[in-house]
Amino acid sequence: MYAFEIERPSTIADAAKALKGDDAQALSGGQTLIPTLKARLAAPETLVSLTDIPEMVGICDGDDGSLCIGGATTHAAVAAGAGRYAGLAALAANIGDPAVRNRGTIGGSLANNDPSACYPSAALASGATIITNTREIAADDYFQGMFETALNEGEIVTEVRFPVPEASHYEKFVQPASRFALVGVFVAKFADGVRVAVTGASEGGVHRWTAAEESLSANFSADALTDLTVPADGLIGDLHGTPEYRAHLVKVMTGRAVNAAF
Ligand SMILES: Cc1cc2nc3c(=O)[nH]c(=O)nc-3n(C[C@H](O)[C@H](O)[C@H](O)COP(=O)(O)OP(=O)(O)OC[C@H]3O[C@@H](n4cnc5c(N)ncnc54)[C@H](O)[C@@H]3O)c2cc1C
Repeated sequence: MYAFEIERPSTIADAAKALKGDDAQALSGGQTLIPTLKARLAAPETLVSLTDIPEMVGICDGDDGSLCIGGATTHAAVAAGAGRYAGLAALAANIGDPAVRNRGTIGGSLANNDPSACYPSAALASGATIITNTREIAADDYFQGMFETALNEGEIVTEVRFPVPEASHYEKFVQPASRFALVGVFVAKFADGVRVAVTGASEGGVHRWTAAEESLSANFSADALTDLTVPADGLIGDLHGTPEYRAHLVKVMTGRAVNAAF
C-alpha cells in the first residue's frame, strides 16, 4: 500500500470540498477500495472518509412513501432497518459475510457498480433515485456498464430513494468463493407493472429483462416465463460458468424470485 493522507469531514459540503483536491478519493466501508490499495492498484494522495457524516447515515420514510437510505448506511443497518421493503432488507442481509455487512455501504456499492454486486439490481428493479451532492439520477440512467456509472469525478452518492413495491424478492445464485452473485435477479411488483433487474450475468453490467417485465406485468406468476428464452449473446463466460449457463440461471432465478415474492 502506498502512503496517503486521510480526511474525516463531518458534513457533505466539507467532503465535496475535500474531494476537489488533487488526487483525492472517497472512502466508505473500504471493502473494495482497501484491498485495491493493498494490491497497489490505486495510489490516491488523500482518502476522504464519508462514514462520519451523520446526514449520510440512516433510513427514513420519504413524503411520497419511498424509503430513503443514506449513502454511508451499512448493509447490516439496511438489513435491520429496511423492513418496510422486505426484499431489499433480505438482499442486504445476504451480502458477503458479517464483516462485509458491518463495514460496506450502499453508497460504496452503487458507486463501485461491480457487475456481480447485489444492490444495483435492487436499485434498477425499484426504479430508485440516486441522490448525489449535486443532483438526482434515475437508476435507469445511472448504471452505464461494468464498474461504470453516471457519477462525475468527486461526486458523492449521499442517499438512495427507493419506491416501495407491493411485492419483491431478490434471488441470488451465490458464487461460493466470493459470496457475490454468479447471477442475481431482483423482481419488484408495483401497482402499475413489474420490473426485473439482473446482476452478474451481462458483460454490460446490471440490466433490466424487459421481456419478463411485460409477461409478469400481465400475469405475476412464474408460469408467465415459460415461453421466454434468454439469449446468451453478451453474457459473461468465465471459469464459473458459460454464457449459456448464465442465460439458464437468469430464467430460473427470475421464476424463483416471483414465487418467493408472494
Ligand atoms: C469478501 C467480500 C464479499 C462481498 N460480497 C458481496 C456480495 O455478496 N454482494 C455485494 O453486492 N457486494 C459484496 N461485496 C462488496 C461490498 O458490498 C462492498 O460494500 C462494496 O464493494 C463497496 O462498498 P464500500 O462501502 O466498502 O466502498 P469502498 O470500498 O469504500 O469504495 C468503493 C468505491 O466507491 C467509491 N465510493 C465509496 N462511497 C462512495 C459514495 N458514497 N459516493 C461516491 N463514491 C463512493 C470509492 O471511492 C471507491 O472507488 C463483498 C466484498 C467482500 C470484500
